Amino acid sequence: MKLLAMKSSTLPAALLGLLILGSSAAAAQEKVLNIYSARHYQTDEALYANFTKQTGIKVNRIEAKEDELLERIRNEGANSPADIFLTVDAARLAKADELGLFAPVKSKVMEERIPANLRSADWFAFSTRARVIVASKDLVKAEDVQSYEDLASPKLKGKVCSRSGSHPYNISLMAALIAHIGEAKAEEWARGVVANFARAPKGGDTDQIKSVSAGECGVAVSNTYYVARLLRSDKPEDRRIMERVNIIWPNQKSFGTHINISGGGMLKTAPNKESAVKFLEYLASDDAQRYFADGNNEWPSVASVVIKNPALEAMGKFKADNLPVATLAKNAVAAQRIYDRAGWK
Ligand code: FE
Repeated sequence: MKLLAMKSSTLPAALLGLLILGSSAAAAQEKVLNIYSARHYQTDEALYANFTKQTGIKVNRIEAKEDELLERIRNEGANSPADIFLTVDAARLAKADELGLFAPVKSKVMEERIPANLRSADWFAFSTRARVIVASKDLVKAEDVQSYEDLASPKLKGKVCSRSGSHPYNISLMAALIAHIGEAKAEEWARGVVANFARAPKGGDTDQIKSVSAGECGVAVSNTYYVARLLRSDKPEDRRIMERVNIIWPNQKSFGTHINISGGGMLKTAPNKESAVKFLEYLASDDAQRYFADGNNEWPSVASVVIKNPALEAMGKFKADNLPVATLAKNAVAAQRIYDRAGWK
């Protein structure tokens, strides 16, 4: 059993339970909010501190991997102290939703601020990231890899690197492809990409970028914030990695580049529902949107919020796929089955 990662503002579970008992006994003298988060970005610290400053609501936070958190919420059942579940990726939010863990939130603020394609009835997206193509300048012509579909082209035989087909980022990409080209073509595509693999899938997105840069493979896909992180890095070796690759916005002539999200919702068993809704509304505020997105080199969900991020700016403007994230969630199971059948391990 893995230990839960604790940040300075988080508390061990036993202590958290005591605190909640204590607070109900003290009859709402001190308002609290309990967040279970599978987001692990240091820059989020300021986000929580600022909420407490604005509302006086104390934030207790438990950070762990989403599967551990989901299991924990289920085991705790009606007694769960968790008010909010935060995570990244539509496929993961879909999983929590499928387990029936979220409570629908009716909020005028949320409806006005978060675009309809970035929310479902039960959860909200607070930032977006795109899945781009990273191609070796030496090994692959940029014009040969202008779409996700191109990755299945026989031209790229032995040149494609990928992370696991079971990873939520790839599942959501497949979920988008299913929506745009249908299941049959999406499966054909997966088989084509598998036939082009330079090696068996392994590692994370940053590993794929490094493999492309090193010439181990010619092309891979990566979320934009990993690209931006390397572009903004102070380390000369990271700069050198990026000098050897082209970053390509896929599908600019068709449905646009696949977009994924980071988001969350209020839990059905939330003991502090009022605070939970306040927190969700806070995350949609201008300040929080900037923290939430820019801290991890993402784009805010709220369209009017402008961020100043040199790496994202350097990557240029692009046409984003505006498929509703709820559709990604809906197609997640079918997506995993396609990868399994295609042998994309
Ligand atoms: Fe990630």
